[in-house]
Amino acid sequence: MLTKKEKHAYQKMLLAQKEKIVRKLTQLNNESKEVETDIAQDIVDKAESSYTKEFLLSLSNAEREQLALIDDALHRLKTKEFGICQMCAKTIGKKRLGTLPWTPYCIDCQQKKEEEKA
Ligand SMILES: [Zn+2]
Repeated sequence: MLTKKEKHAYQKMLLAQKEKIVRKLTQLNNESKEVETDIAQDIVDKAESSYTKEFLLSLSNAEREQLALIDDALHRLKTKEFGICQMCAKTIGKKRLGTLPWTPYCIDCQQKKEEEKA
């Protein structure tokens, strides 16, 4: 079981990470015109426009995905499910939570998921 203090620390980490991503996304939106110009320059330079665009898109998708994971984790903090694997219901290691507090899975299930993807 997590102590109140531990929960508070995880919540702080989650909120800090959320803020970081939100700020980055907002910045990206504000600078989208500049980014477009950079991409145009890249097309001229490397003729790899589709690759560059896809890369930028996947990047923001990953960040959006992480935002959703963070929101879920914040919700789980309130329901006592935080730190419990959403797949096998085992406790997630504290070391893992310390680096990835938004993770919904224990290391075993995460590996299984990644193998499924590959
Ligand atoms: Zn698991």
